[in-house]
Amino acid sequence: MKTWRIATIPGDGIGKEVVPAGQRVLEALAQRSDAFAFEFENFDWGGDYYRQRGVMMPADGLDALRNKDAILFGSAGDPHIADHITLWGLRLKICQGFDQYANVRPTRILPGIDAPLKRCAPADLDWVIVRENSEGEYSGVGGRAHQGHPIEVATDVSMMTRAGVERILRFAFRLAQSRPRKHLTVITKSNAQRHAMVMWDEIAVQISKEFPDVSWDKELVDAATARMVNRPASLDTIVATNLHADILSDLAAALAGSLGIAPTANLDPERRYPSMFEPIHGSAFDIMGKGLANPIGTFWSAVMLLEHLGENAAARVLMAAIEHVTANPALHTRDLGGSATTAQVTDAVCSYVAQHAALVQQAA
Ligand code: ATP
Repeated sequence: MKTWRIATIPGDGIGKEVVPAGQRVLEALAQRSDAFAFEFENFDWGGDYYRQRGVMMPADGLDALRNKDAILFGSAGDPHIADHITLWGLRLKICQGFDQYANVRPTRILPGIDAPLKRCAPADLDWVIVRENSEGEYSGVGGRAHQGHPIEVATDVSMMTRAGVERILRFAFRLAQSRPRKHLTVITKSNAQRHAMVMWDEIAVQISKEFPDVSWDKELVDAATARMVNRPASLDTIVATNLHADILSDLAAALAGSLGIAPTANLDPERRYPSMFEPIHGSAFDIMGKGLANPIGTFWSAVMLLEHLGENAAARVLMAAIEHVTANPALHTRDLGGSATTAQVTDAVCSYVAQHAALVQQAA
């Protein structure tokens, strides 16, 4: 029996509710399997840790994670701590320290979800957004000078390397190739950003030659927002820079019905380091501690975690459990217009897993 070592980092706000819920459903799956088990280790890093120690995570924190098979993360964000401290001090430290350069965000309208696009069928929206996760606009290159003086200056340099662009485009083409449509849309802003984005376009042409069976097209990021709303079925796999994909994936999550549902994987495709899985929503302090948090984004992230580990039967059962729950309005949390609690949704997913225990045993 394989024992997967999983680090859980609930972080801040509702992360402390949805990550334990995610752990519960993973444990429910493992209980029904003869093939795998989990060994969880919890890390209490985040805003509270920062208040006590002045850092979001310890200096040797990455070493504590290094031997894990995967990380289940909640959120980093605290109304009393500056956003750049919570983000750079925890989540980005892990993403960058472990070179998790591919951020993958599947988006679908799940059964029973009332999504805002009324002109299209739910099946028209079935995307995977691939976000460059290691450089670009969020590379952290830049600085400030003359602080507090009228001549103050600040720069954030968007840094794109050929190696970084090649690896994310190759990853995106490969992902597109694995999906039934085999279609990739490469999003840039190469009309206005005439250096790095033009390099993206050139590298896209180069990498596309390695994938003759994948059709692909290009779109400027502003036009892409309109296309997502007006012609969602024309998109399938999408690749974009760190900033562009960050924005597009929030739009995608809203178009799919709720921020509370959407998952993310921060992958090191070469598997040199553990990859990290998290819901895309933030800490949502407004609903913290009330049992209102929708755990589905974390559960879907757990599906991606299982797929990454190769536990495909368990991943399929968990995804089916999620769809079973979303199809039932009585199990919708408040963000979906319902009144179910985090615990009720988690219980329902666990009992679906228990009822379909035989399927967890199926070979991958
Ligand atoms: P952060 O600063 O950490 O990004 P935030 O509160 O500004 O967090 P989000 O958490 O991403 O931003 O979400 C915005 C709002 O959407 C929240 O205030 C909350 O009302 C709602 N929301 C987000 N996630 C969920 C969820 N899982 N369940 C229910 N409501 C949610």
